[in-house]
Amino acid sequence: MTIKTLKQAGRLRGRTVFLRTDFNVPMKGGKIIEDYRIRAGLVTIERLIDAGARVIVASHLGEPAGKDKEHSLRPVAARLAKLLDRPVKFVPDIIGPAAVLAALALKDGEIMMLENLRFDEGEYDNNSVFASKLAALADIYVNDAFAVCHREQASIAAIKKFLPSYAGLSLALEARVLDKMKYSKRSVVIMGGAKISTKAPLLAHFHATALHLLLGGALANNFFKFQGKEIGRSLFDQESAAAVKKFFRGRKLSPKIILPIDLVVKTKRGEARAVSPDGVGKNDTILDIGPKTIALYDSYIRRARTIIWNGPMGKFEEKPYRHGTLFIARSIASRSSGRTYGVVGGGETVEALRLTKMAEYVDWVSAAGGAMLAYLGGAPMPGLAKIVTK
Ligand code: ADP
Ligand code: MG
Repeated sequence: MTIKTLKQAGRLRGRTVFLRTDFNVPMKGGKIIEDYRIRAGLVTIERLIDAGARVIVASHLGEPAGKDKEHSLRPVAARLAKLLDRPVKFVPDIIGPAAVLAALALKDGEIMMLENLRFDEGEYDNNSVFASKLAALADIYVNDAFAVCHREQASIAAIKKFLPSYAGLSLALEARVLDKMKYSKRSVVIMGGAKISTKAPLLAHFHATALHLLLGGALANNFFKFQGKEIGRSLFDQESAAAVKKFFRGRKLSPKIILPIDLVVKTKRGEARAVSPDGVGKNDTILDIGPKTIALYDSYIRRARTIIWNGPMGKFEEKPYRHGTLFIARSIASRSSGRTYGVVGGGETVEALRLTKMAEYVDWVSAAGGAMLAYLGGAPMPGLAKIVTK
């Protein structure tokens, strides 16, 4: 893997850098709930200003349809200034005169931040004119937003037609770690969660490379359904049969794939009960893996040298059904604190891991859920083109 890093950008003093970050932080009522994405972007910004660059920070926030106050990056700029302990000039504009003037006024080592890129439709459309106007603000482009690299959007893809492009420090690190994971031959992969459509390519990839694939969550329901088992009212995907079929030879499941050996269901009366995969009733809903499965999966995790986890084992948002997910999270975290290399990724998966307060033991925690899945599953990555090459 070759990465065009900042080292190759040459002299940065006096040059204006368009820095695409992922500061898409969770917000509530104009307040930032969790700022780890901003913290993850600090190293690159500090490196740039130490080198004397003039930095234009750009990001998206949420999925706004047009401009709305709720999706303004103003609070993010304020938090960034606080974390850096330096002024960050917020410009409530993207490519208009205010942005152009502010960019021209930047001095060496100064930072400004643009308004939410998605306030302009051109961002979503990967519009070349919009991208060229973004590019016109700066001399070089630095991408530090791995989380959106699977998107074909103007500040991620088209902008690279107009500026010399480099990887930011966190993007480079994330690409290196995930590449190592992708081709690791002796990994144990744990997958769960809800939508099989987004996970199918990843399943296929790891089926080819990993030692074992331990399945849970609603993902496993699709396999039970395919085997003709009763899954009651459980979540599954009508269209999953074609994807699931690939892992069977006739009726026989690939030995690499390990399914839960017991489950926790919610009964019609709302009680939680452990049953065998053959014991699910018509009115039951599968919401977690059972105690025997937890012990079985734990034994695989203990023997692994590399662990990759994406997707909760159950509906962990509901207290009675979080044991499986939290146990697996703790087991992975405690193994990762030793010689085992552990990678955990995915929006809800990371949320579950954080509930254990053990996230810091995990070697790599990826906030870039969709992008990580896309990368590991071999999907095109428009954001990495020209920056990260095989
Ligand atoms: P991630 O964002 O970590 O990749 P997903 O988006 O694939 O994970 O899935 C997370 C969601 O899956 C969680 O909100 C969880 O409640 C849900 N889930 C997991 N197992 C089940 C289940 N058996 N039934 C219903 N929902 C489930
Ligand atoms: Mg999710």
